[in-house]
Amino acid sequence: MKAVVIEPGSVLGVLGGGQLGAMFTMAARRLEYHVAVWDPDPEAPAHHFATHSFPASFSDRHILARFADLVSVVTYEWENIPAEICRALEQRRPVRPSSAVLSVIQDRLEQKAFLASNGFPVPPFACMTAPDQLATTVQQVGYPALCKTTTAGYDGKGQWRIRRESDVREVERALSESARPGMRWIVESLIPFERELSILVVRGADGQSCTYPLAENEHEEGILRTTMVPASGFTAMAERAAVLGRQVVDRLEGVGVFCLELFQLPSGELLINEIAPRPHNSGHYTLDACSVSQFEQQVRAICGMPLGEVRLLSPAVMVNLIGDSAAIFMKKGVGCRTLLDIPGAVLHLYGKREIRPRRKMGHVTFLGETLSLALDHAKQFRDGLANGSTLPD
Ligand code: AMP
Repeated sequence: MKAVVIEPGSVLGVLGGGQLGAMFTMAARRLEYHVAVWDPDPEAPAHHFATHSFPASFSDRHILARFADLVSVVTYEWENIPAEICRALEQRRPVRPSSAVLSVIQDRLEQKAFLASNGFPVPPFACMTAPDQLATTVQQVGYPALCKTTTAGYDGKGQWRIRRESDVREVERALSESARPGMRWIVESLIPFERELSILVVRGADGQSCTYPLAENEHEEGILRTTMVPASGFTAMAERAAVLGRQVVDRLEGVGVFCLELFQLPSGELLINEIAPRPHNSGHYTLDACSVSQFEQQVRAICGMPLGEVRLLSPAVMVNLIGDSAAIFMKKGVGCRTLLDIPGAVLHLYGKREIRPRRKMGHVTFLGETLSLALDHAKQFRDGLANGSTLPD
């Protein structure tokens, strides 16, 4: 299939202006594209780097028409944007990944059903349409289980653990309190995974694809804290993950950057937890440790340009700065300099003014000659962050 090429100088449209949109915009500007950012929040970081900024509601039809007039192609930085905007824009411009892909991915149940019906490995799951179905639905997958809203959840939001039968009543009550008409939930078996992994897959408009090295992730309270690359262990597993990733994105006929979040079972088997149709937090290490970042690949893929050859230039450990842990960097005092003095540290702050609990404020990537060195320095950094209050301002 011959893809239409969108040349540098054109305007690329991005829906959503958070840090992922900002990093996409910076990569696009470096390749001499212009970027139109549409995000209702005027403070959203990507607006600062945009050539054209649309701080307007996603339901504004006039903005939709102006945005479509301006851009040559549309992408998005987040799967929770309204799919109908993508469908409307697709009448006039290519949207990559397509609105059909977005619709499958943004509903957890549709996504798992798509994966399971195509023979891809996922945790056992079942669907429910009312909180009082919880007990019978959990029985289908067994205890312990995890109940998730089918839409709009991220970073562990909209999730309830049901470890045993006696938890059902309390979770049922919590579900009833947050229930809205027409809402559905997915109940999954709580997987006793050995570790969490992720892999980035890039697929061009011509169907060519490439993958990044397998990454190992640590989460706390459902939110990513640390990514280590390359994931330790067997190359055979990394190859299996890469094949799986390519197969999934081929089956979706996706164009753009995708991330598969995986669970590794004690047997070595891999299960897919979730697909993101965009660059991913666990791929931020690519900015400093790879020949081509995930954001440059996003630009190349949606523009029909050749994909960049992926090379890992250094082992890397990425540490997220979440909520209060970023305060020391916002003050920009001696404490900040002490932490930046740790060998291999590369700091990225997202330009968010207000610190909120669980908000991703930035990240630091540690590069090292070996993964073990990078891990030592990341540990020194995390210990320093934990003692942040004792460091001078
Ligand atoms: P999610 O928002 O679905 O990516 O979930 C956030 C985190 O919750 C994951 O990274 C896992 O740590 C955990 N999690 C989600 N689903 C499951 C599951 N079925 N079994 C065990 N842990 C899970």
